[in-house]
Amino acid sequence: MVLHQAAQHGELNSEFIGRHIGTSNKDIQFMLNTLGFDSMDAFIRKVIPAAILSDKPLELGHARSESDVLAQLREIAQQNQVVKSYIGMGYYNTHTPNVILRNLLENPAWYTAYTPYQPEISQGRLEALLNFQTMISDLTGMEIANASLLDEATAAAEAMTFCQRVSKSKSNVFFVSEDCFPQTIDVIKTRANPIGIDVVVGDHRTALKDLDCFGVLLQYPALNGEIHSYAATCEIAHAKNAMVVVAADLLALTLLTPPGEFGADVAIGTAQRFGVPLGFGGPHAAYFATKDTHKRQMPGRVVGVSIDSHGNPAYRLALQTREQHIRREKATSNVCTAQVLLANIAGMFAVYHGPEGIKAIAQRVHHLTATLVAGLQQLGYSIVNQRYFDTIEVVTEARTKVIHAVARGQEINLRVVDDATIGISLDETCNASDVEAIWAAFASNNQELPDFNAVAAKTVESIPTELQRTSAYLTHPVFHRHRSETQLLRYLRALADKDLALDRTMIPLGSCTMKLNATAEMIPVTWPEFGSIHPFAPAEQTQGYARLITELEQMLVACTGYDAVSLQPNAGSQGEYAGLMAIRAYHHSRGDTHRNICLIPSSAHGTNPATAHMVGMQVVVVQCDQSGNVDLADLTAKAEQHSANLAALMITYPSTHGVFESAIKEICAVIHDHGGQVYIDGANMNAMVGLCQPGKFGGDVSHLNLHKTFCIPHGGGGPGVGPIGVKSHLAPFLPGHHLLDNQTAPVCAAPWGSASILPISWTYIKLMGQEGLKQASQVAILNANYIAKRLSAHFPILYAGPGGIVAHECIVDLRPLKDETGVTVDDVAKRLMDFGFHAPTMSFPVPGTLMIEPTESEDRGELDRFCDAMIAIRAEIADVASGKISSEDSPLRHAPHTAMTLTAEWTHAYSREQAVFPVASLKNGSKYWPPVGRVDNVYGDRNVVCTCPPMSDYE
Ligand SMILES: *Cc1c(COP(=O)(O)O)cnc(C)c1O
Repeated sequence: MVLHQAAQHGELNSEFIGRHIGTSNKDIQFMLNTLGFDSMDAFIRKVIPAAILSDKPLELGHARSESDVLAQLREIAQQNQVVKSYIGMGYYNTHTPNVILRNLLENPAWYTAYTPYQPEISQGRLEALLNFQTMISDLTGMEIANASLLDEATAAAEAMTFCQRVSKSKSNVFFVSEDCFPQTIDVIKTRANPIGIDVVVGDHRTALKDLDCFGVLLQYPALNGEIHSYAATCEIAHAKNAMVVVAADLLALTLLTPPGEFGADVAIGTAQRFGVPLGFGGPHAAYFATKDTHKRQMPGRVVGVSIDSHGNPAYRLALQTREQHIRREKATSNVCTAQVLLANIAGMFAVYHGPEGIKAIAQRVHHLTATLVAGLQQLGYSIVNQRYFDTIEVVTEARTKVIHAVARGQEINLRVVDDATIGISLDETCNASDVEAIWAAFASNNQELPDFNAVAAKTVESIPTELQRTSAYLTHPVFHRHRSETQLLRYLRALADKDLALDRTMIPLGSCTMKLNATAEMIPVTWPEFGSIHPFAPAEQTQGYARLITELEQMLVACTGYDAVSLQPNAGSQGEYAGLMAIRAYHHSRGDTHRNICLIPSSAHGTNPATAHMVGMQVVVVQCDQSGNVDLADLTAKAEQHSANLAALMITYPSTHGVFESAIKEICAVIHDHGGQVYIDGANMNAMVGLCQPGKFGGDVSHLNLHKTFCIPHGGGGPGVGPIGVKSHLAPFLPGHHLLDNQTAPVCAAPWGSASILPISWTYIKLMGQEGLKQASQVAILNANYIAKRLSAHFPILYAGPGGIVAHECIVDLRPLKDETGVTVDDVAKRLMDFGFHAPTMSFPVPGTLMIEPTESEDRGELDRFCDAMIAIRAEIADVASGKISSEDSPLRHAPHTAMTLTAEWTHAYSREQAVFPVASLKNGSKYWPPVGRVDNVYGDRNVVCTCPPMSDYE
């Protein structure tokens, strides 16, 4: 690591810093002067309270060049060994179709997009997600599916709490078949424990009869590959008011009777094997599907069809645009960032192959498995499972060790069940020579190997008639129209062209930190040495990952001032969960099992109270004062009142209002004095890196969002990584995994969550070094203050700190203008689209406001363009105020304006030119045309349609 450091430290190698940070030195000086400062240091000293401002450089080494950092990462990648894994357990090799790899997974138009809360500029990815939902509903035979969840194990845990909410049973027992994947059982146990659910694991054929339970989880096909007929089990469960959840393999469902046809209430699982690389465990999209009557209880986001202002069909997030399920104390789940990019890949895999293509893949895999079985039988082995799709368990007669050793020598990973049993799962990448190699590993020294063609010709398949699928799936035209590569290429391009992502405009979303995702950071993600590794591969094959993970953990320790980091949580929400679970376990370890009160300021992100709820804590809300700070008197009173039972405070820093509260140290001290722990929500770490450290000013634990501060792209709503940092006393309670030698419970399916995107953050930190990271935070704060300053002459800015200074984001208050003119925050957000901008965060944390976070990556030109747009919009509001135009017929209310409106009869009181070219700079030929008019939310919620509508609807 230290290898070339001296040579690196030249001017040449800080070039990346200047490319990541959009603002030039000259403009930085200009902006500082505009704000009345002559140096960055003087400015930062004004923003960050002296008590927490650190003057020590981060222990990270210096910035290095792109070629140098990538060369080092290559070296690390080569310490991973890409071998053929037949381990299965929910993770299978797959071919990512190249047209999807290059034009979706590696395409910034897709991966730099934000969550589609603003539907008019998100029609492309909303359509892609609707394809995903339709695919899931079709394959599972369920009525409605979401898009999407984090992994199969957490989807199973969500299904468990879903059943508890929906089922009429009074029992607190959830039954889990012992045939489920072990990582799923472990996460279920983690999640059940704090909320008083008893998990009973057993044989579904015998254990269920006399058991009172509210829900049942079954694996289809089972861990050992067996295909059980579950219809009778569903009847037994339903007779006791228990609901049935089936964790189903999507590829198998093309051949098997789907869960929806044999009585299941919920189907969950992973869409990984539909074209998403293994990636050492993630990221992959999980799915959740159920009956239409339960849709309002469903976790995760649901895309639905509505109409726009012209009556045309338009897509949007259904059932309350913003996180229907994250309803503070009433929350049903805390999942926010999901796995949109990966769901889109899986959906496009189905679009690419179509139903016949996917079925052909499944049949080939199945036939190959049957051939494998016949050959093994010829070699004298017997198979444990009677019926199988792609997975078998072989009876080895105590030869497991020998066979395993031979296989490993030939770069083959099998699943060791025990001394006398080995598991094998085939997949779409397997061929005859793979099967022959497996036979060779099982054959004893002088045994003759079966002849593949001869065996294959005689092979009988094993899916019993009564479990063979007869119903059609993927019948919608979208799964039939793009069979040539040209067609699919153009489909992907057409969808991307409908959307605004970071490759076209700044996305100034407060609390979401949409900064540059540099190409150099993205390149390693699709290297096979990172992509083609099974999460349960033996440790000696994953040394590169081990090194990358250890180094990244150390870097994050250096950034945060904590003592230890876990990279397992695969979103911020999961980090919050892991962090509060660590606090809970710490209290329990000291006998303080009664500590269950969690103080949360009223301004908190919805995930905070939702998470507290999930770990069985009781939320007590702390008030904020006039300037947006936590009300210290109220905090002290509540801490005293609940002193005996105080578990934690969850606080966001800098505050959700975008202010560095000066009392943060006192706040932490009050909590500690009463025996509580301090959880600092570190989603806003972008304002702190290199300047102050939550682990040093009073936090016991924080989650960071690597998909905000540390450059992992948002992917249109995921993937993400939400690592937690903890002080040493909480380190023993970081999440564990049955594959790691520790005893703590996991929060995710894979030991390191979304491992394959960790190279992005590793690369970012290496490229920036200690000086670059600090400068990034400084410029992020400067950019926000520059915008606040320019806009403050036109709009009230809420919650500035002393001297009118904000942190890395600022809140524009539109409420007074609404009272005066009727122009709403929605009108302004939609009007920004006509200027080619993505709206800032709307009505969070304060209703009726816009929260703007420019990040360090935007240059002054872009900041000025944005301010100019806001100022031009302000003038349009003034026209309403002066009575020149009514708010109902203003360009604000009719925004966004599509190209089509120009050719229709023009009845508005403003001109066509003002509608679409409100500023002259938009006439430069690269104008963004919103594909739909304003989307009708009320209509969409009254008429919930969550699968692709029939084509006739478009005509
Ligand atoms: C983004 C965010 C979260 C949630 O992170 P996800 O990755 O979306 O789950 C939590 N708290 C705050 C303050 C955030 O901004």
